Amino acid sequence: MSKVKRIPGFRKDLCNLCGDCLNLCPVLKLPIEVAKKEVKNLIEGKESEYALYKCTTCLSCNLYCPERANPYQLILERWNDLYKERGAPPLYRFVCPTMESNIWQLLNVFLSNQERRWIYKWMHYVPKPNDTPLLIGNYTHLFPFIIGGSQLLDYFKPIDRIDQWEGGAYLYQGGYLDIVQRIAQRTKNDFDSWGIKNIVTCLDAVEFIFKEVHPKEMGVNHSQNFINFNQWVLDKINSGELNLKKQLNLSVTIHDNCYSKALEGPYWENPRKIIKKCGCRIIEMKHNKQDSLCCGFGSGASWVKNISIIFDIITEGMKKFKEAEETGAKALISYCGGCIYLLWATKELLRSKIEIFHVIEIVRMALGEKMNYPRDHISRAWDIIAIMTYSLILSFFNKNFYIQQITYDKDLSTFKPKKYRLLKTIRYVMDFPLMKNLFAKVFHLLRLLLKSK
Ligand code: SF4
Ligand code: SF4
Repeated sequence: MSKVKRIPGFRKDLCNLCGDCLNLCPVLKLPIEVAKKEVKNLIEGKESEYALYKCTTCLSCNLYCPERANPYQLILERWNDLYKERGAPPLYRFVCPTMESNIWQLLNVFLSNQERRWIYKWMHYVPKPNDTPLLIGNYTHLFPFIIGGSQLLDYFKPIDRIDQWEGGAYLYQGGYLDIVQRIAQRTKNDFDSWGIKNIVTCLDAVEFIFKEVHPKEMGVNHSQNFINFNQWVLDKINSGELNLKKQLNLSVTIHDNCYSKALEGPYWENPRKIIKKCGCRIIEMKHNKQDSLCCGFGSGASWVKNISIIFDIITEGMKKFKEAEETGAKALISYCGGCIYLLWATKELLRSKIEIFHVIEIVRMALGEKMNYPRDHISRAWDIIAIMTYSLILSFFNKNFYIQQITYDKDLSTFKPKKYRLLKTIRYVMDFPLMKNLFAKVFHLLRLLLKSK
């Protein structure tokens, strides 16, 4: 238990109960009187009928609130209360690196030798005081080929500490606030012990967590300077140090992730500037920037039944695909590694034709770097689908739980793979095109049957 008290992100003193936040919410769209009552109930800790069971953590309500009271953080606070009461659902082990069997441990079964080499190096390097580490992060770890071997890494020391939990970014999104505070303190200890001055994060979300959430809500101040990766890329392109050899001449639409709204501008503008520099024409989706919809991941935060979580996530992601396809763009671009692995899994399950790129891949193509696109992504998407299926089956035998350990043990036992015969069989079967189609159909039938929200 931390001695430092958390500071509530929701500003009760500023809220006038106008209800705009949940009325304008692109997901809930509550009638104004219902929205007022729901906010009041949330503040008073009374039964919530909507927000706690339908919110997709998109963060837009903070931008809609005229008083800047941070209603999103009010929802997080109530989810934190719910976690204390009922624990996390069994399926959430999936994203807990210190629990058996999590996605990083399971993915070890499918990594290529090249990926293993990259990851081993990134996981074991201990930064020296004059290094500028680039935090690869838990989600980029899932598809290291998007950045591995690129000249973009030559400027940094890439490091990959999965049990730093992306600074707590995805736990924060699910309202696990007390755990985030422990992670804030733990990452501070790591950074200080390395003696580093500058840190670059692959994800905007992680930068935001370190710079804003840890000091303002968790009471933990980092003494390092955090550099935004997209800003860094943009500066290097503008200065000519990154020499874009090719104009890609591609029509694209952009997926704005939930955290991109946190600073109301820079996080969603910089990737657009980069993408345009690479010769892409942007066609915006109906919901974009401050109004953008979640990739689906956030839907898991408002879980009702463990069994429905994956189906709810994919259902939410389908809305994004519908909007992306309606633009007529050739490709959908994400600048968040957390979103992209879900978007690829959803694309494969929907059998959608739209291409998906990470913004890093767009830059690499413009730099003239060779990548094994889309083969690596398709294969990884089915690895992830197999892991999700396997985790869902495992979850039937587990109960709700509380996250106790936040740090790996000395043997990294919850990272090292085991035999996983069932997982390998599921993945083997998914290599046949006919089985992929059949699986996608069965998945959608189950999705319709289990629709919970
Ligand atoms: S975070 Fe998004 S989905 Fe949740 S209440 Fe706010 S606007 Fe609605
Ligand atoms: S949080 Fe903001 S938008 Fe929501 S009810 Fe309070 S003042 Fe209104």
